[in-house]
Amino acid sequence: MPAELIDLASDTKTRPTAAMRATMAAAEVGDERAHEDPTVNRLLVRCAELLGKEAAVFLPSGTMANEIALAVHCRPGEEVICDATSHIIGFEGGGPAALAGVMIQPLAGRRGIFDAVQLRAAIRTDRPYAPRQRLVVVEQTSNLGGGAVWPLPVLNEVASVAREVALSTHMDGARLLNACVASGFSAADYAHGFDSVWIDFSKGLGAPGGAVLAGTRAFCEEAFRLKLRWGGAMRQGGIIAAACEYALDHHIARLADDHANARRLAQGLAALPGIAIDVAEVETNLVYFDVAGTGRNAATFVRDLATRGVRMTEMGATRVRAVTHLDADAQAIDRALRILGGGRGARA
Ligand SMILES: *Cc1c(COP(=O)(O)O)cnc(C)c1O
Repeated sequence: MPAELIDLASDTKTRPTAAMRATMAAAEVGDERAHEDPTVNRLLVRCAELLGKEAAVFLPSGTMANEIALAVHCRPGEEVICDATSHIIGFEGGGPAALAGVMIQPLAGRRGIFDAVQLRAAIRTDRPYAPRQRLVVVEQTSNLGGGAVWPLPVLNEVASVAREVALSTHMDGARLLNACVASGFSAADYAHGFDSVWIDFSKGLGAPGGAVLAGTRAFCEEAFRLKLRWGGAMRQGGIIAAACEYALDHHIARLADDHANARRLAQGLAALPGIAIDVAEVETNLVYFDVAGTGRNAATFVRDLATRGVRMTEMGATRVRAVTHLDADAQAIDRALRILGGGRGARA
């Protein structure tokens, strides 16, 4: 096993930097559950402003943000419309069914992005035997869509159709700030037509945890109730919130480096025999490619690569994902590419 692992499995693999840890250690704290933690309170004011919403709630994870949002917006038996590749469908342990009791109508978008025409086609006539439709969910950027950025006009059109037929709207913004850095639009621009939105601090922003869910004051009061019910309320949460504040100050603009490194990786991968990738589709920090042409499946490819010191993720029979982040600089990407190229075919 090589000494230094290049871990491109996920942007969640980042570790808090020394400066972030120092900020955490110095954080002023209180009882978060009683709204008495000054650092959490400051973070929430700042995030509400960033996202263009009235209020915000501090949560341990993005998964909890999605699941709470579903449960606040919907009653059991109601239907959620989202792309078929959505995180809420594939990666939250069946939470939408188990916790909110909702049904999901998956849409076949392109790279995780559907449009207003598709949404309109999914609207049911209100009949007693049909599930009542309640919520539209979008994911900015789309994870399984390869980090694709929803264009602002498409989001606005989707939100406008939803409003027209009285559906609520929720944005999974796990990587919303990646979209902002890639496009130049603000988080509030993207979230404008949506009733609720959250950002994750444990992905590219590099904090050890934390997500902030934002919406109207009434929405956030209900969200806080569920956070308490589901055991997500914290005590001296300011220690984590301080890391999140630090990330807002120091780790947003640098996401551009991750995007450049993702393109660098994609270009290198495109030059390797047997690997299929559309470099033009790499818009942010997620790099998906197909290894069918190498004669190996994704599981074998990823296992083999790990023994040579590079970690990526199997995301389908022959689909592999690599994610760039603040713990992998351009040199690490070049080293990963040398390992990918040099070791190719060495093991079957
Ligand atoms: C990671 C992720 C989540 C869940 O966030 P956690 O903080 O890991 O719970 C939700 N949606 C998307 C698109 C994600 O990538």
